[in-house]
Amino acid sequence: MVLEKIKFVKDTCYVGLGVSPGIAIGEVFFLSRVREPGVSRTISADQVGEEIAHFQEAVALFKQQLVDAKGRITDKKMHQHLFIIDAHLLILEDKMFLNETVARIRDDLLNAEGAVKNTLRSFENLFDSIEDEYLRDRKADLESVGDRLVRNLRGETIRSVDEIGEKTILAAHDLSPADAMQIDRKKVFGLLTDRGGRTSHTAILARSMGIPAVFGLGNFTATIPNGMPVILDGTNGMVIINPSDGTFKEYLAKKQTLEYIESRLAQLRDLPAETQDGKRVSLRANIEFPAEVGSAFKHGGEGVGLYRTEMLFLGRNTLPDEEEQFRDLREVVEKMAPHPVTIRTLDIGGEKILANESYQRETNPAMGLRAVRFSLRETGIFKNQLRAILRASHYGRARVMFPMISSLVELRACRECLEEAKEELRLAGTLFDPQMPVGIMVETPAAVMIADLLAKEADFFSVGTNDLIQYCMAVDRGNQNVAYLYQPLHPAVLRMLAMIARSAAEAGIPCEICGEMAGDPLYAPVMLGLGFNELSMNAYSIPVVKRVIREFRYGDAEKLVAALINFTTAEECREHLENEVLKRFPDLSQASRI
Ligand code: PEP
Ligand code: MG
Repeated sequence: MVLEKIKFVKDTCYVGLGVSPGIAIGEVFFLSRVREPGVSRTISADQVGEEIAHFQEAVALFKQQLVDAKGRITDKKMHQHLFIIDAHLLILEDKMFLNETVARIRDDLLNAEGAVKNTLRSFENLFDSIEDEYLRDRKADLESVGDRLVRNLRGETIRSVDEIGEKTILAAHDLSPADAMQIDRKKVFGLLTDRGGRTSHTAILARSMGIPAVFGLGNFTATIPNGMPVILDGTNGMVIINPSDGTFKEYLAKKQTLEYIESRLAQLRDLPAETQDGKRVSLRANIEFPAEVGSAFKHGGEGVGLYRTEMLFLGRNTLPDEEEQFRDLREVVEKMAPHPVTIRTLDIGGEKILANESYQRETNPAMGLRAVRFSLRETGIFKNQLRAILRASHYGRARVMFPMISSLVELRACRECLEEAKEELRLAGTLFDPQMPVGIMVETPAAVMIADLLAKEADFFSVGTNDLIQYCMAVDRGNQNVAYLYQPLHPAVLRMLAMIARSAAEAGIPCEICGEMAGDPLYAPVMLGLGFNELSMNAYSIPVVKRVIREFRYGDAEKLVAALINFTTAEECREHLENEVLKRFPDLSQASRI
């Protein structure tokens, strides 16, 4: 194949969706490249019987393949997922599917491939009109069935997961859940696909199997040759092809650190995040999907400190209605109870754009109609979400949080919408928690400067350092050219953090950090010393941050911050911090950093 001859530049990078965290290093093995769409052809009346029989044989063969696949799944933990294969079997036994396909062969004089394709397309159109994202994602099951049937009709042999060698990064145009379930975790280190979203069955499976995965890579499988060395970073959604020695060593070190963290996980999980001198910190998880609650628990998260609800709104043409949002939120709140779940209202805008074309692209989206600015303009959408959040609050401990607040007027307007939503629910006799705490994200410099005023009208603060650093330093958080200016230890950032913590303490309200800084173990003593005793981060970082907190003294953290505040540059601060922290935890130099 021509692809095999292409020389790949060292460290060629692909960016996709990180759907399952962790680092995997290995050689890429392609299970399938592009989907088989099926070719339509008209047949003569005397070929009908033969073509119907051909179709029935392909169905029977596929059923046998699925039954065999089921038999190969010996891992008991995977048995709970067998329903996925059963779902494919159900499609193959579905009378409507079988009869409609036969009718297309007989009445439209179509070949079996074309008939299968047309029947499944009419089914897919039905799925498209379904509002529920989970159900809509099941369209992928139909596509998998169609793909395999077409291959069976052509008599193609399909590379099976049995052929996989050691240290494999499995790549497929769109990995079917049935294939994912048969994966031998001792051989397959990671998964890559051109297609697929975070709520696809395969993504859910990858997370539950703990296999790092990057999906949505576009035309990856059409461009990369088999056997190519590859590094997969499922936490950041990155794939590096043909890594150089330096990159290889860097990622190997990161991977070993992650493995070290994992190995200590079991011991740390149920221990409190408490300093040597008795200061207790709450460590929570940032999540984007209900399926991540399991990971939050597994890593010892004491609740969800940031639920980024906008993910439910992305990559679709219709907005989720109140009911769909309620089901999604209730699941998280209920599963996490009695721990709290902080639900952030829609933070749309910036790099998170709704598919709906009526919302125009802006020239400077990071400073445009983003977050509460959008919600306060689209109050219908906002109130739908607020009612859903309030209804979910009845099932556990929910807290609502408004993103990108830059004035008291905005906070008051948001609260007014919340009160209206409450009134509507009261009138309808719907239950909710009337005391649900109302907090704000402190992530604009304006909010920092008026933190004392905001603290009087908010029940809690959560600092979004990702945006706060972006807006404070005037540095696009996604632009590699200015990444060197993204400095959590810049005196301007440290002073802002100190101001926020002081205002919250004076008002007696809880104050959390939920930006990426919270998950970097190097900064744990700084955040502690500044007075933040709630930190929320990606679930995988909880154990390592907990470890630093448990082995540090709060008194030392305060002294450290007193010293840092007196330095005049970020570089001096970093040098001092690294000296102080890394001499106690030398292995942290390899931990994930921002
Ligand atoms: C932040 O800005 O730090 C934050 C947590 O929110 P997001 O990354 O979703 O903007
Ligand atoms: Mg933010």
